[in-house]
Parts: sequence; structure tokens; C-alpha cells
Amino acid sequence: MQLIDLAAQQARLRPEIDAAVAAVLDHGAYIMGPEVAQLEGQLASFVGDDVIVVSCASGTDALLLALMARGVGPGDAVFVPAFTFPATAEAIALLGAVPVFVDIDPETYALDPSRLADAVEELPSHLRPVGVIAVDLYGLPSDYRALSEVTDRRDMWVVADAAQSFGGRRDGTAVGALTPLTTTSFFPAKPLGCYGDGGAVITTEAETAAVLRSLRVHGAGAHKYDIVRVGINGRLDTLQAAILLVKLGIFSDEIQRRQQVATRYTDALADLDDVVRPMVPCGCASAWAQYTVRVPGRDAVAARLREDGIPTAVYYPRPLHQQPPYAGYWRPSAEPAVSLSMASQVLSLPMHPYLSSADQDRVVSRLADALDGRP
Ligand SMILES: *Cc1c(COP(=O)(O)O)cnc(C)c1O
Repeated sequence: MQLIDLAAQQARLRPEIDAAVAAVLDHGAYIMGPEVAQLEGQLASFVGDDVIVVSCASGTDALLLALMARGVGPGDAVFVPAFTFPATAEAIALLGAVPVFVDIDPETYALDPSRLADAVEELPSHLRPVGVIAVDLYGLPSDYRALSEVTDRRDMWVVADAAQSFGGRRDGTAVGALTPLTTTSFFPAKPLGCYGDGGAVITTEAETAAVLRSLRVHGAGAHKYDIVRVGINGRLDTLQAAILLVKLGIFSDEIQRRQQVATRYTDALADLDDVVRPMVPCGCASAWAQYTVRVPGRDAVAARLREDGIPTAVYYPRPLHQQPPYAGYWRPSAEPAVSLSMASQVLSLPMHPYLSSADQDRVVSRLADALDGRP
């Protein structure tokens, strides 16, 4: 059993992927070939609501490009959840700004809007509160309406880190159109993954899209050697775009399958009193990048499952504010207690569109045995 079975997906698509890769080898436009613009168009149609998609080299570059487009620099404070992947805070630190770690909501694992408001109030005067990166952890879109109630009053922007939630929805709107600026990742294990690194920035603002396109190629202007700003080399490879075009064709079906797997877990785990199942608020559809539960004695349970041949993962064992490079930044007075407590309890179970019912039943019954101390 695999935590995420990429081979099952490849078996379904292999002939089309072979043909798509061969087409790139034939035309030879490895950098910014026609598949890149084609993919950007199709991703925008997938999201709908008049968004523009600017593809890039990774989810990390997507965050960096988004913050560069917002002009983040020294003296700026950007608020992020303490419980997230390192890339979320990394982009802020790389630009010389200050990541401020805020606690999460214990039910949705998303940045807690009231804790955000408290942290903004407390910020020392030498720091400027400019924006927020909200993270849609495990695939569940954050409550962007509640967050913007906090940020709009202070003229702060919100960037959605949707590396895990692309394919999800909230109140009928697709992830990508929930905020003016969204970033995502096409790392192989994400819901929509390529065969290497890839990412995208999605925006509703035409001017921002133009800036992002320039930033992605060294800050070029109208001409390639007409440099108008400091940028990066952040392009998506044509080969990865070609692969993503094939995978995008079955992405809606895969999201539905993930939903079926999640529903099945949620029903089957209802009888296990010790297990806290993921909560999906009304009107939300998760992309189910992960199916993450909370269990007592998490590390022992994970070890038992590993002995039984059931892979699990812990996202994340330690909140970012406790990692040495991030421990020295200014911090709000309230400890991110929820983040700390989640870090010791969360356990992600095998989740992918091709997980069989038999394998799922085995995960649930072995988990029950592990929790009861049965052999
Ligand atoms: C995976 C991930 C990223 C980074 O994406 P890469 O493509 O690996 O650079 C950023 N944020 C979150 C929340 C992620 O899960």
C-alpha cells in the first residue's frame, strides 16, 4: 500500500503522457514552449471566474513571486500560520521581511482570524503589517471572507497558499478565485502533480499578472534584455506543462474519487472514539491532498501501522516558530498552543484517487487494533 499511489495514475495515462513528452522532444521548445501557455489557459478555465494563471518552477517560487509582486521587503511583517510547510515562511524571510507566526483553528487547521487580529494589534511599531499568507492545509480552503474582514480594515492583502487545495471549492467558488492572489504547487504528491517541480500563481488582477510574468524571467520588460525590475528564473519547464495538460484532463474525476475515499474514511472511522476526523465546514469541498486524523499516542500508532505495512505521514511534527531559523523573529505574546498540540497528534492516512476499498478497510481495522493495543 502507498500513502500516495502515483503509479496507479500513471498506468491510466501512460500512452497519453508518452505522446505528450514525445511531442515536446519533437518540437524542441524546452523553455516556454507552446504547452506552457496552453496549460495556463486551461488552468484558468478550470478555475473560472476570470482568473489569470502564471505558471512557474515550483510552489515555493510561486510564493516568492507573489510576495515580490506585492513589493514585500525589509520592515514588512507578513502573518502566516505557525503550522505549515517551511516554504510559506521562507519566501518572506528571503525577501528580508518578518514572518509572524499565528495560531490555527483546531478544527480546520487554518489561520485563526481572531488570533490574526490580535497579532496585528500587538505588532511593534518598527514593523509594518502588510499582508497574510493563509494556508489551505490538507486541501481544505481557508475562510477567506473571515480573513479579509481582518485585513481589509488595515489595508493588508491576503495570499492563498493553495499548494494542497488546488481543486477544492468554497461556497461554489474554486480555489484560485477565492482571493486576488493564490499560489499552488505541482510537486508530484500534490493533488495536481507533474513529474518534477512546478507551480503557478493565480490572480484576478491583470496588472499583477503582467508583473508576475516579468518577475518570472529576470524582471524583463517589453524586450528580453530590457530589465525593469529584479526578478528570478522561475519558469515552468515545457515538459512539465505537457505532462500537466494530460493530468488536468482527469483532474475533476480524481477530485471526485478523493472525495469518495474521504467520505468512506469518515464513515468507517465514526466508531473509533479516540480518532478525531477531519471537519469540512458547510459549503466547502476539500481537495483532499491528505486525509489527516488526530489520535492519542500518535507515534506509537504510526509505528504499529508501519509494522503492518500501512504507510502514514506526519504533516508537520514541529510548528515553524520552533524551528531554529524562524525562532528568533518577533512573536505575538500568545503561544501558538493549538499548533503545538496538533503537531503531536496529527497522522495522515493513505489517500489518493485509486485507493481500493479493501485497502481502506485494512487501514481502518489496523488503526482500531493499534488504538486498542491489540496485536
Ligand atoms: C508543497 C507546499 C509548498 C511548496 O511547494 P513546492 O512545489 O514543493 O515548492 C508550499 N506550501 C505548502 C503548504 C505546501 O504544501
